[in-house]
Amino acid sequence: MKKYQLYINGSWTESVSDRWIEVENPATKEVIGMVPRGNETDVDKAVAAAKAAAPAWAEKTPQERALLLRRLAEVIERRKDEFSLVISNELGIPLKHAFDFHVAGAISDAKEAADLAESYEYEKQTDAGVIRREPFGVVAGITPWNYPLTQATYKLFPAIAAGNTVVLKPSQNTPLCCCLLTEAIEEAEFPAGVFNMVTGAGGEVGNAIALHPDIDALSFTGSTAGGIEVGKLALNTVKKITLELGGKSPLVVLEGADYEAAVKEACSSAFMNSGQTCCAYTRMLIPASHQDEIEALLVKEAAKYIAGDPLDPISEVGPLSSERAFEKVRDYLKKGLAEGARLLVGEVPEDCEHGYYVKPAVFVDVKNDMIIAKEEIFGPVLSVISYETKEEALAVANDTPYGLAGAVFGPQEEALDFARRIKAGFLCVNGAAGGSGMPFGGYKQSGIGREGGMFGFEEFLEVKALFW
Ligand code: NAD
Repeated sequence: MKKYQLYINGSWTESVSDRWIEVENPATKEVIGMVPRGNETDVDKAVAAAKAAAPAWAEKTPQERALLLRRLAEVIERRKDEFSLVISNELGIPLKHAFDFHVAGAISDAKEAADLAESYEYEKQTDAGVIRREPFGVVAGITPWNYPLTQATYKLFPAIAAGNTVVLKPSQNTPLCCCLLTEAIEEAEFPAGVFNMVTGAGGEVGNAIALHPDIDALSFTGSTAGGIEVGKLALNTVKKITLELGGKSPLVVLEGADYEAAVKEACSSAFMNSGQTCCAYTRMLIPASHQDEIEALLVKEAAKYIAGDPLDPISEVGPLSSERAFEKVRDYLKKGLAEGARLLVGEVPEDCEHGYYVKPAVFVDVKNDMIIAKEEIFGPVLSVISYETKEEALAVANDTPYGLAGAVFGPQEEALDFARRIKAGFLCVNGAAGGSGMPFGGYKQSGIGREGGMFGFEEFLEVKALFW
């Protein structure tokens, strides 16, 4: 079992707290690692290091910053099997999916950030004057447990590429892959103070970061409730804030769609990573006239998602990430039944003695005002709602406080028109895959700001109007 330290000013550093967080493997309940439960004093030290390193890092040329990020991409690539195993062990995702769903993204984030650093036009001449963009200084990232590596790299690599120094607080549930990332950053020989990491609890380290006067910008990914709290704290010092929050995204099946393709996408989105995906399509809207046909397809497709040991190559779905997540998802399954929804696939698990497993579940006969259609369950649970008219489907799709993502299946032009009318930040029509360099983020209570590509890069640059 590995015991990590904090990483401050280019060195592994003991926390002043002398308290620890045990990291559990959700498949075996074994403690597989320990990280310090940092505190406010640790945050002060990390921020001081980041602040001291900021001017020299901002002075480096974009090419120098890009070179280090590309070297980092090489280190992660070389150590990809280690990263995959650690993520599988601490999160529970089947090992065979850990690279594609988690590690590959970190490598491409580093390369994309390097490309952006080099290609970005930091000063633009206009008829009225020059618009110049400059790094903020110190950027902090607070990240969740469900995509524990890429939620850090998606924000911190562009922040670093843009010339900021950073402080990361990873989730207390799955911090080990970020410890490995820190080793990779050390191996790539970034200057001391450019990257710092303080592990710990949200209420301690997270709050201290949100309130810190020397942090200029804060990028938070997590629940909407957490984001609201962090955002309020961060406004005490008028920091730039980016919030990437929860979702309850619709997948709308129009009459005449390829129903098989729609069902395949719905199951993959709702079940992979044990349903612990912010932009998962967890509400499936289907035409009532084709309910029987689509239900039969759902039964057949869902059967492919075998839940089991993450190290067993036949497993498609591992356990949930923690006992808390297990209890929460089990409660939602009970609530769905109590509200009158029909469990077409799956069951309410009895106990979690042998790991936090919940079999993929599909509720049908769901109404959009049921709790299982309104709240983010964050487990492998799909809620299927049938509709009579297209206008009703649109109203239901948009009847949510969230607006992160959505999908539409149907005759191409009609589906495209429908997608344009969904209030969400990321829409895929007829199974189109999201491309790299595109913005990602939510409307409404799914967030403020964007990650990915140039939009994500610009979140970490201040704007100056310059006249002479
Ligand atoms: P969470 O809000 O509980 O925690 C996220 C991070 O914030 C953790 O590091 C936590 O320690 C910290 N934190 C929590 N409360 C805090 C507070 N009051 N002050 C300071 N820090 C605090 O979320 P989670 O359970 O780790 O992650 C799951 C949530 O994240 C889901 O709602 C999911 O939809 C969302 N998410 C969103 C995106 C996105 O890009 N929109 C991506 C991944 C996950």
